[in-house]
Amino acid sequence: MFGFLKGLKITFAQLAHKKVTLQYPDVMPNWGERYRGVHKFYAEKCIVCNQCARICPTSCISLSGSKREDKKLHIDTYDINFEICILCDLCTEVCPTEAIQMTDRFELATYSRVDLYKNIYWLDENARKHDGIIESEGRTHAGGEK
Ligand code: SF4
Ligand code: SF4
Repeated sequence: MFGFLKGLKITFAQLAHKKVTLQYPDVMPNWGERYRGVHKFYAEKCIVCNQCARICPTSCISLSGSKREDKKLHIDTYDINFEICILCDLCTEVCPTEAIQMTDRFELATYSRVDLYKNIYWLDENARKHDGIIESEGRTHAGGEK
């Protein structure tokens, strides 16, 4: 009986506390500013220096570029294998132009390993979703903002 009352006391004490659970996936969590989620990529900023691929501890970045009319190198392909990416942030730290950046996005669950290879188009779309340029599944974040 005493244990039951003790349990009830804890339950009622929690009723007065601020709710910490979210209605995920309808409501997304707000991560800290330095949260390391899946990347976004700005192709126009990339100078094809290869530093991100070289520093990557799991060798999950592969890229290629070519010279265009302006005699400068431009990125052609940029792939990240999220099957082995450990979201360590080293690639973004080393990038001199901030072409590759991390976001607060984390949902990569899939039924196929092949789907975990993300190319330049997916990473670009992720940038536009993250920056609010295109609609991002219409879900709200904790606190109300989209
Ligand atoms: S976050 Fe780390 S593991 Fe992932 S691509 Fe960048 S350097 Fe490689
Ligand atoms: S480090 Fe940055 S600029 Fe250099 S290849 Fe990687 S993404 Fe492009």
